[in-house]
Amino acid sequence: MAIRNIRVDSDPLLRKTSKPVIKFDDSLHVLLDDMAETMGEAEGVGLAAIQIGILKRIFIVDVGEGVIEFINPTILKEEGEQIGDEGCLSVPKRFGQVKRPNIVTISAQDRFGTEFEITRSELFARAICHEMDHLNGKIFTDLVIGEIFKITDEEEIE
Ligand code: ZN
Repeated sequence: MAIRNIRVDSDPLLRKTSKPVIKFDDSLHVLLDDMAETMGEAEGVGLAAIQIGILKRIFIVDVGEGVIEFINPTILKEEGEQIGDEGCLSVPKRFGQVKRPNIVTISAQDRFGTEFEITRSELFARAICHEMDHLNGKIFTDLVIGEIFKITDEEEIE
């Protein structure tokens, strides 16, 4: 496994639309393993392949139930709404309030190409919507209600 570089800020690649995965082979598995390691190292809860420069319809989420891999995902159903703080590994140290559905049902393929469907709420639902947006070249800052807050901590002042 290897840690990959995360594309940040105004990198134009982040605005591109990712393409479907066709081959579920060893190179896909290496990519998924690298994504998990990269997300873990960066302490993120979600990561899309585009964030490490790979324009494929893949994202992973880990909000405490382990890493779940979503390949060629489709959102089937959205219910309710939630408004809460959102951030992104590609937009370091910035946060803002984003409105998302509270419950999301999504279908996707796993690393072997097997289709599955899950329904999740709250933070997991938020992460799914955020990562789906990445696959279509959208970034959470496009959706922020009001101000985008910048975190300035001691580390950054140095
Ligand atoms: Zn993001």
